[in-house]
Amino acid sequence: MSAVLIDGKRIAEEIRDELVQKVILLKQKGVIPGLAVILVGDNPASISYVTAKEKACAEIGMKSFETRMAENTSEETLLERIAECNRDPNVHGILVQLPLPRHIDEHRVIEAIDPNKDVDGFTPVNLGRMLLEQPCFIPCTPFGIIELLKRSGVPTNGARAVVVGRSNIVGKPLANLFLRKSVNATVTVCHTGTRDLGSHVREADIVVACAGAPGLVSVDMIKPGACIIDVGVNRVPDSTKKKGYRLCGDVDFEGASQIAGWITPVPGGVGPMTITMLLSNTIDAAARISNIAL
Ligand code: NAP
Repeated sequence: MSAVLIDGKRIAEEIRDELVQKVILLKQKGVIPGLAVILVGDNPASISYVTAKEKACAEIGMKSFETRMAENTSEETLLERIAECNRDPNVHGILVQLPLPRHIDEHRVIEAIDPNKDVDGFTPVNLGRMLLEQPCFIPCTPFGIIELLKRSGVPTNGARAVVVGRSNIVGKPLANLFLRKSVNATVTVCHTGTRDLGSHVREADIVVACAGAPGLVSVDMIKPGACIIDVGVNRVPDSTKKKGYRLCGDVDFEGASQIAGWITPVPGGVGPMTITMLLSNTIDAAARISNIAL
């Protein structure tokens, strides 16, 4: 392996150490940052994400308030729960775990979250503010990716960045962050309508694969020395594992790590950063709501 391994777990721990100090400061002023976590249904991946987020809150001295709702919960009941969280002074951040069951309108639910408590940064208000570079909550995965690049010393100024995926929660906001003057990359966004994906990826100094398609970015697409950020979390069948599957990203890790300059592993790359930025956003929300400067 010639690439530098970007250890998301270690960088996330470094940031969490900084966050603990902020939690202590808030507690001294009588505020305990609180995150409401709402899960509808029993999707196993969602349960494990929610559990990890609650554990992370407890580890740095924050509170989490869990609401588990049955798969057949009505949209109105979910909206009522969100309204309660909007009113609750102990709740500073609200997270509705996605995806929601099909009978629930995801957009309506997200828009019901008070933008001041929207620590996932998914409401139209926060996404609009992000675009305008006004104070806002930046969606956690893109926020975490920019932090990973900064803290790993990956040059972004003038770099060519290719983002593979255009979802509202990862690809689109990330492409926008790459455009900021403070990052200053030139961005291409690829998707299923892109002709000849490889021709774009081969030009990239920074590749972010966020498609949810195992092996999509193959070694022949990678420019020697490029930085590869693999966001994909895919379960692929593996009879040698107790659970019957293993996790992999969207990139051919074995091949890519031979020629890339930097690479993130899956798991242990982007995932821990996403949770950490959620904690960071919730702490910021608690400080803003309580009028405390951190
Ligand atoms: P999503 O909503 O399904 O979006 C996937 C995007 O990738 C879409 O824009 C889609 O294009 C594009 N795409 C899919 N297959 C493609 C292909 N073969 N060629 C080119 N583009 C392709 O997914 P998401 O929510 O953004 O998540 C993406 C992946 O990241 C998933 O594996 C998810 O589990 C993972 N994820 C990880 C974290 C983390 O913290 N580690 C956080 C969030 C998501 P179209 O728009 O044309 O359909």
